[in-house]
Amino acid sequence: MASRKNRSGKTNRRSPKRSAGFAGRLQARYDALVAWISAHRWHSIVIAVIALFVGSVLGGYWIAERLDLRSSDQVARDTIEEMKRSASSSAPVVAPKYSRIEDLPDFPKYSEAEPGKPTPNVEEKPRVKQVAAAFSAEQTWRRNALPFRDLKSRPLIAIVIDDVGLDRARSKRAWELPGPMTMSFLPYAKDLPEQARAARARGHELMLHMPMEPNGRNDPGPGALMVSMSDAELRQKLLIALESFGGYVGINNHMGSRFTANRHDMEVVMRQLKPRGLMFLDSRTSPQSVGDQTAQEMGVPSIVRHVFLDDEETLDAVRRKLAETEAVARRQGFVVAIGHPHDSTLQALAEWLPTVQGKGLALAPSTAILRKRNGWD
Ligand SMILES: [Zn+2]
Repeated sequence: MASRKNRSGKTNRRSPKRSAGFAGRLQARYDALVAWISAHRWHSIVIAVIALFVGSVLGGYWIAERLDLRSSDQVARDTIEEMKRSASSSAPVVAPKYSRIEDLPDFPKYSEAEPGKPTPNVEEKPRVKQVAAAFSAEQTWRRNALPFRDLKSRPLIAIVIDDVGLDRARSKRAWELPGPMTMSFLPYAKDLPEQARAARARGHELMLHMPMEPNGRNDPGPGALMVSMSDAELRQKLLIALESFGGYVGINNHMGSRFTANRHDMEVVMRQLKPRGLMFLDSRTSPQSVGDQTAQEMGVPSIVRHVFLDDEETLDAVRRKLAETEAVARRQGFVVAIGHPHDSTLQALAEWLPTVQGKGLALAPSTAILRKRNGWD
């Protein structure tokens, strides 16, 4: 029926104006086609449906290609821009690995906290028992914790060695000391999984030493969390670091005097730690750090650093700091002291570690301090 209507419409419009020969031929063809169609109605329907289908596929493809031409150009440009940007800010995805701290390009001598200012010891007020933080055995910090039973009978001392993994010789010297201590590995160290396994095999707990932006001019190294970054960038940098090795109980900040004072950014960090069941050790490289507080508020298990052993890198200074560490442990019941794989620190620890037991104190992994501080057993 449709074809018949078409025929009448078209012939009415065209036939009077065309030359007789052309119009006649056209008319003849048309009549023949219409005759064939009415003779082969079902064939024509099938052919029409197929033609419609093929036509719409081809047409759709053509339109899509026209539309896509501009956007794929745009996508390519955006991708190149993105690659340029991330290459210039730092090279995160394939982070370079360094075997010694001296190998880092333009890496000056640095101090963990504010340069030039010795970091004061910190002591805590007695805390009410914490119930908010998750208590489940599913927690990664519990799974990766060194077994430690006796939380109560002696004051506990956790020695955390930061910046482990870069200076391989001194890092090895650190984990060959008697434990239990905590080895906190920088995520850009070379052969990280092997080094971490070696340290764990010597009876030390493992931590990820997450580079964060300091005040001043110290360089926290590749992949550091900076206050200028978007939340997505922070998550990405943290994720790359979290995946650099396994078996650790949580993270503590490398430098970070600027970053840890930023509540919003610390919340972004805690939101990544919480679902992974990781703990946070606030190195307190700045008195303005809100790390511990943010962790507590968000239900992330956390502890804080009380003593820095080697702000001053001399044997005598480290010995003095170790004596202060003992005193804090006796007053508070537990203490977290952070040192670095420096010659003076390693030597002082080598002398001091074997004496701890005899003084009525106990060396403990970080997770034991976490349990004791929070009243968990
Ligand atoms: Zn550090």
